[in-house]
Amino acid sequence: MFQIYCPYCEELREEEEFHPKGQAHIVRPANPEACSDEEWGDYLFFRDNPRGIHHELWVHAVGCRKFFNVTRHTVSYAILETYKIGEQPSVTAEPAVSESTTSTDDVRQGVRA
Ligand SMILES: [Zn+2]
Repeated sequence: MFQIYCPYCEELREEEEFHPKGQAHIVRPANPEACSDEEWGDYLFFRDNPRGIHHELWVHAVGCRKFFNVTRHTVSYAILETYKIGEQPSVTAEPAVSESTTSTDDVRQGVRA
């Protein structure tokens, strides 16, 4: 069991009070009518799944009920920072590790391209 810092309550709370809601910083296309099917499908369905730094949307469900962002390392599960909606992360993606550039990454990139 661990604790997460809520940037709105400004205190550490038990993780059971929070729920992850997926990738953060997904921008809705300004003009959906002008999107191709591929662009709209990418916005709706495709999310990053990095091995390393990931910015996620969480909600303090059993607390202030506000949404905020979390920067988390997907391998160690370490939460590196939390910040309010509208703010930018101070921890950004780390350089790619050579072992992560495998053929499966190339295949996934090829599918989306
Ligand atoms: Zn809160």
